[in-house]
Amino acid sequence: MPIDCGDYGSGSDSGGNNGGSSGGGGGGYNTPPPGNGGPPINLSPIECIVNLDCEDCGLPGDLNGDCTITYDEGRFNLFLQNLNGLQLSTFNNLNENSKTDVLNYLIANDFSERAKSFAMSAIDAWADAGEVNFEDEIINSLEGKALCIYNKLLSSSTGFKNAIKKFDGEFPVSHLSFKINNTLPSGNYGITKPPNNFNTTVEFSNTQLSNISDLGGAVAFAHEMIHAEIFRKMLSAAQKGNLDPANMTQQEQVAYVNSLRNNFPGIYDYYIERYKPTWNHNQMASHYRETIADIIEEFDDSSKSRQIYEDLSWVGLRILENGVTSIAWDVLTQSEKDRVLSNFNTHFFNGTSNCN
Ligand SMILES: [Zn+2]
Repeated sequence: MPIDCGDYGSGSDSGGNNGGSSGGGGGGYNTPPPGNGGPPINLSPIECIVNLDCEDCGLPGDLNGDCTITYDEGRFNLFLQNLNGLQLSTFNNLNENSKTDVLNYLIANDFSERAKSFAMSAIDAWADAGEVNFEDEIINSLEGKALCIYNKLLSSSTGFKNAIKKFDGEFPVSHLSFKINNTLPSGNYGITKPPNNFNTTVEFSNTQLSNISDLGGAVAFAHEMIHAEIFRKMLSAAQKGNLDPANMTQQEQVAYVNSLRNNFPGIYDYYIERYKPTWNHNQMASHYRETIADIIEEFDDSSKSRQIYEDLSWVGLRILENGVTSIAWDVLTQSEKDRVLSNFNTHFFNGTSNCN
């Protein structure tokens, strides 16, 4: 006789608790609770185990083949049901280790919305031959020059590594996906998209990166990481998976703005107080150039003078939109501006390129 899981299995599933007798159809396991709710009211997850007489039953959802559907396996089945067709076939074609990685990751994160979103992104990335790091919650679908620069930054720059680390499981506000997008407009080496569903995607164009030095590529990566970092701070203030005010109640919007003011006054100043569409480049020009310079100096083994790294940090932060220059740039003297542009030419557009 199967052990009945109380209201765990109540509802419409016709497969019910009849074990092998029902043959095909919905399968012989109990449906997980509706929605994404917690354990059933009257049973703990551990208690909620359905034992079946399982000779030949090929129990659907019994991932480890022990003829038992645990609560976590039930929740995992619900996760699988929410995948689209491509995601499901990608998942089904994974090796057992990768499948287990997904399951264990979701269990470790208690099937949170954020974790489920990461797992879905991971499956999307696998469909694209990307690489998934569940521990650091990073999805890497880079290739070519972008991948080469990324790997070199990770191995050479503690500043870059620390910037990445802020997105890992210890600070679970958002996870990162790195992708290739070779259709970015000329002169756009990378782009960081506004967060969506707890995911921040950073794209790089190998076509554009091929026009600049490796050091130039490192500038582009550092620049995009700052964009991602600003989004990460905003997400932590918003306490949401995205930053679109249209998806926030008025109460959430007020709490978001208050949290920005209290926790991230720099962002508040540029984003709320003196808002312009170009606000984040203005803020980066004023407050993040040292960070960019630090990252690329490490990348380059400090083989050049500090001034050169500081000058290269201006890439993308000098001119905002429509030819308008940033507040910080306007403060420089003409000879400083000339020196910066000369260093762009020598070290960004020209210079060593071993990554190809
Ligand atoms: Zn930018």
